[in-house]
Amino acid sequence: MSIKLDGKKLSLEIEKRLNEYISINKKIAKRAPGLAVIRIGEDPASGVYVNNKEKACLRVGIKSFIFHLKDNVEQKEVEKLIDKLNFDEDIDGMLLQLPIPKKFDEQKLISHINSNKDVDGLNEINIGKLVKNETAMRSCTPAGIINLLRSQNITIKGKKIVVIGRSLLVGKPLSLMLLNLNGTVTMTHSKTLNLNKVCKEADILIAAAGKPNLVDSTFVKEGAVVIDVGIHRLKSSDKNKSRLCGDVLLEDVIPKVFAYTPVPGGVGPMTVTMLLVNTIFSWQKQFGLSSALNDLMP
Ligand code: NAD
Repeated sequence: MSIKLDGKKLSLEIEKRLNEYISINKKIAKRAPGLAVIRIGEDPASGVYVNNKEKACLRVGIKSFIFHLKDNVEQKEVEKLIDKLNFDEDIDGMLLQLPIPKKFDEQKLISHINSNKDVDGLNEINIGKLVKNETAMRSCTPAGIINLLRSQNITIKGKKIVVIGRSLLVGKPLSLMLLNLNGTVTMTHSKTLNLNKVCKEADILIAAAGKPNLVDSTFVKEGAVVIDVGIHRLKSSDKNKSRLCGDVLLEDVIPKVFAYTPVPGGVGPMTVTMLLVNTIFSWQKQFGLSSALNDLMP
């Protein structure tokens, strides 16, 4: 029988550790870790994500600061806010909730965030350090996937790993992290020829294409590990209902695999957990606290 890599369960276990770590170390730091979230505009999905992050912070004892800006705000004003938060001593981590309205220069705003507070691990300094395999803030979804694999002692070293997708958010940083951990990594994308043949070579196959049910059993080697990053809301035949699915056609793939992630409850919860971990890392660095959580950082 194949193993379900339960991201929800693992994220609760990690949250318990984070909560204990904060309770012990708050006495030394004399304040809780702080996370600032900047949201611009009214994208409803962003509203849900920001709420989830706020609740997760509350569960582990991180103080969250939410800045919800109207979409008629100017780029310069957002930069000013980021500058202010960069110098705010109560803030250890900061993120810009994406997507933001198109009129903004997203990369410029992300670059404005001090790299020590860049808990999404998306600015040039942190990406550069990842390329050089130096310790730095790592982007959350890829870091969550590495922790999910480790939780079931799934070896990365020497394995053939195929990543579908080359985005800056998921595919690229994930491929680099796996490479740094000595996997033999093939990065694929929308222009890759014979995608299913390439994928069928993989000991570990990771789908981050953003295409519902792209990966069926013809993509998967017997006994492989399949990680599904995609998340899509599909309308069901009953118009008032919808259901979530990923990039992997799970019912077709599960009988063949050694392990898989469900959607929902796989990669998603781990992404939020790694945001908490990154915020606490920044706090740890600031106050020279114990390195008891270092095993969580890929
Ligand atoms: P993106 O659109 O920025 O990138 C998609 C990548 O997939 C591109 O590099 C593209 O070349 C490739 N691609 C597209 N169609 C393909 C195809 N048919 N065959 C092969 N490659 C193809 O998306 P993203 O931000 O990387 O996100 C990917 C998916 O992961 C989305 O469904 C997103 O919602 C989801 N996601 C989930 C989490 C989470 O926490 N669970 C976090 C981030 C993203």
